[in-house]
Amino acid sequence: MPYKGIIEKYRKYLPVSDETPIISLHEGNTPLIQAKNISKKLNFNGEVYLKFEGMNPTGSFKDRGMTMAISKAIESGSKAVICASTGNTSASAAAYAAKAKIKCVVLIPEGKISFGKLSQAVIHGAEVLEIDGNFDEALDLAKDLSSRYPITLVNSINPFRIEGQKTAAYEVCESLEESPDYQFMPVGNAGNIAAYWKGYKDYNKAEPEKYTLPKMMGFQAAGSAPIVEGHPIANPETVATAIRIGNPASWKIAEEARDESCGVIDKITDEEILEAYRIVAATEGIFCEPASAASVAGFIKYTRQNYFKDIGPVKVVCVLTGHGLKDPNTAVTNAAKSKKVRVNIEDIVSVIGL
Ligand SMILES: *Cc1c(COP(=O)(O)O)cnc(C)c1O
Repeated sequence: MPYKGIIEKYRKYLPVSDETPIISLHEGNTPLIQAKNISKKLNFNGEVYLKFEGMNPTGSFKDRGMTMAISKAIESGSKAVICASTGNTSASAAAYAAKAKIKCVVLIPEGKISFGKLSQAVIHGAEVLEIDGNFDEALDLAKDLSSRYPITLVNSINPFRIEGQKTAAYEVCESLEESPDYQFMPVGNAGNIAAYWKGYKDYNKAEPEKYTLPKMMGFQAAGSAPIVEGHPIANPETVATAIRIGNPASWKIAEEARDESCGVIDKITDEEILEAYRIVAATEGIFCEPASAASVAGFIKYTRQNYFKDIGPVKVVCVLTGHGLKDPNTAVTNAAKSKKVRVNIEDIVSVIGL
């Protein structure tokens, strides 16, 4: 059967029926790529894989949740959806709402979302409202509006989002033909770590021998690490705008995922995030967005701290949550500059050192 997206593929694990109208852009089925160069660079005794969620239709894992949220919104008769967004949720909501022919309203923190993400929301025809506040304030407004007016909230507190997003863990299990030992991921609003944990638990329940439970390793940016600090952060800051969130909606379930799996939620600095971002691009040929690199930054940090030293060879998966082309400015300001040369072979040869 041709691939038709995560709902068709994983129907039996999802809260849909034959009556649910399916709105899909054929999301999911993303590659799991072994990162041998990173492994070698770190002298890592084991296997590291990158789950490249940037290969989803709108360039981030948000599409897995959005196909569920929009399909269920249509099933319930909704004519409009709303979300607060650091960028990727709005890009995804706008695309799926366009496909479903319903209205989409997005609230974004003014000046804090990358140009690529903004371009997606506007070209798909969403009503984009920039508020003079941060993400957390935008989310409070979106919640309030959806509770008082006929408009469906499609942020990750919409339970169908988590249901869709858990399918990424299924795919990891199928690709490896077993579960990984460690699952590294960025943590922003914390829905995705909850979703992966749910997905791993589903497969573990179905086939406990084959699919064991990995440890969930979540990473927040140091300037916006409320779960690590133990309190909300009023003015979160980080270069990784997709995880620039001071009061995560799924805080509690993220802590449950951490504790049940004997994992950790830790923080990494912007420098560590940008280092990982460059290493992934320059050594593995994969361009992810800065927030995505938080997973690899966490893995690099833990490897350097000898965290895996006495455990024997392990399998590690790092999720790369979004595509690097969403935020080209961060790439250009953090890589070597292009050089100017005259129209002249000798000049070019001397510059490139042939
Ligand atoms: C949304 C997002 C995150 C954070 O996911 P949460 O579920 O909010 O923790 C990380 N990276 C990217 C690229 C995202 O779009």
